[in-house]
Amino acid sequence: RAKDDGGGVHRAYEPQLHAKAEERRLLELALREALEKEQMHVLYQPVVEADSGRVVGFEALARWTHPEMGPISPAKFVPVAEEARLIAPIGEWVLRTACAQAVHWPDDVRVAVNVSAEQLTHPSFVATVVSALAQSGLDARRLELEVTESVFMSEDAGALRVLDQLLGLGIQLSLDDFGTGYSSLGYLSRTRFTTIKIDRSFVVGASKGVAESLAIIRAVVTLAESLGMATTAEGVENDTELAMVRALGCKKVQGYYFGRPMSAQDADALFPMVPERLIA
Ligand code: C2E
Ligand code: MG
Ligand code: MG
Ligand code: MG
Repeated sequence: RAKDDGGGVHRAYEPQLHAKAEERRLLELALREALEKEQMHVLYQPVVEADSGRVVGFEALARWTHPEMGPISPAKFVPVAEEARLIAPIGEWVLRTACAQAVHWPDDVRVAVNVSAEQLTHPSFVATVVSALAQSGLDARRLELEVTESVFMSEDAGALRVLDQLLGLGIQLSLDDFGTGYSSLGYLSRTRFTTIKIDRSFVVGASKGVAESLAIIRAVVTLAESLGMATTAEGVENDTELAMVRALGCKKVQGYYFGRPMSAQDADALFPMVPERLIA
């Protein structure tokens, strides 16, 4: 029926489209002020070694609380920031904050920071990473950068070159949300990722007995192992999911079952013997 209306269809959808564009514009404006008005903070979610249960790292996750709109999830503001060319300054702030935080943790605990494709290929990205490490005093080997398959979408070799430079600095790389984008196994042979992160959707599927999810986790674990990479199962929420991903051979696990994204203070409290604390 809608089709017969011809132009009417467009008119009917216009107000919605307009409202969406307006919301985006407002978000963008608000986002421009967010950093200077200190509305952003970083939470840290533990990453646990599957066999030992030891905390081997934390993933830094950006949070934004607008004074009127309240908390706005990264799923909403990151895409807006990417489009408005604000992801580089926001990402730089997250990176510097996370590096400064991680120096308080034991030497064998890493911090993982998410990096958007737009940020990775920004001309000063490598210099920013070098500066964040120098300023914080964090050993490069304790920094892990998480990228998604989207960094390989562009035709030019820019992203690959940057990834190689980062590896040259001694930084660890992980491939986030693996299997949810336009996966190509070629990426895995071109870049030495330390870890492949298996998206929560496969973890949920496999624990519900979805054969395809199970097959994908199995294949990714086998592939990672043969390439000398580790795997992290994302979004493990209960012991059924934990038992399953452990049985499938995932080396690391992350999810609400072990800890929600937490404040820096709560993350620090997981290590009672931090030297700074003893001195203070
Ligand atoms: P991601 O990098 O895949 O991060 C994992 C997401 O899963 C986080 O959502 C985390 O809170 C959530 N999560 C962890 N464990 C569980 C679980 O057991 N169950 C469920 N349902 N969810 C779980 P969050 O913090 O909302 O972040 C969403 C996405 O936003 C991230 O996905 C990442 O792509 C992006 N993001 C967050 N912070 C940054 C940042 O600083 N820079 C960039 N570029 N992207 C960021
Ligand atoms: Mg991530
Ligand atoms: Mg992920
Ligand atoms: Mg994910």
